[in-house]
Amino acid sequence: MRAIIGFLVDLWVDSFNSDAAGLAFERLRKLREKILNWFKRHGRRFPWREEVGWYGVLVAEFMLIRTRSEVAEKLFEEFIRIYPKPELICSSNPEDVTKYFRKIGLPTRAKRLIDTVCTILSEYSGEVPCDYRKLRELPGVGDYIARVLLSRVCGKHYAFVDSNIIRVLSRFSGKLLSTMEAAQILEKAFTSEDLTTINVALLDLGSLVCKPKKPYCLECPINELCQYYVTSQTSFQYFN
Ligand code: SF4
Repeated sequence: MRAIIGFLVDLWVDSFNSDAAGLAFERLRKLREKILNWFKRHGRRFPWREEVGWYGVLVAEFMLIRTRSEVAEKLFEEFIRIYPKPELICSSNPEDVTKYFRKIGLPTRAKRLIDTVCTILSEYSGEVPCDYRKLRELPGVGDYIARVLLSRVCGKHYAFVDSNIIRVLSRFSGKLLSTMEAAQILEKAFTSEDLTTINVALLDLGSLVCKPKKPYCLECPINELCQYYVTSQTSFQYFN
């Protein structure tokens, strides 16, 4: 109880000095170890999280749009077995490539993937351009995929934020954050060395623990500084 009171006092004091985004990144910075330890034990292992290069990352991200990771996993492995190199999808019949995306109801994604991959091969000599503006000019590469490529392939200091991360950070900070605010929190809170790993850890935390309808706060590694959790605890104790 003392810890909770201390936390609420900190929150009240900080509210005069900082906004919710500021609070969130200060508190997250303190919890770096906990997030990383949790991720070592509970992080999900997907083939696209290995060293798969820009091509593997791109294929995975095009598949993951509106598709659950567990469903995309099987398809990704099948696809990479048939098309292990980017050159192959440019020289193949587009309809053959499209049939894999049809399985997840996203046939138009295949065309965009083919266009993007072939553009990288022809205009950038087979190297992904490590520049946000150039990436956004590629067909089908929106803000999220551009950031994933910059972070995971180019090693640049960019966070990539999906609905899972927005939910975690919004509950954590006690404010409904925009995509840009959530990305800024992560980019400010963590060094380049940690950012990508913590980013992926938070994706998993949102997917496995901080669920949309019923978050498993008691199992959450960052609960002690989460505003949502601490507030719900104090309400519980007050009314019971
Ligand atoms: S303590 Fe609960 S609400 Fe806060 S981040 Fe963890 S699971 Fe989400």
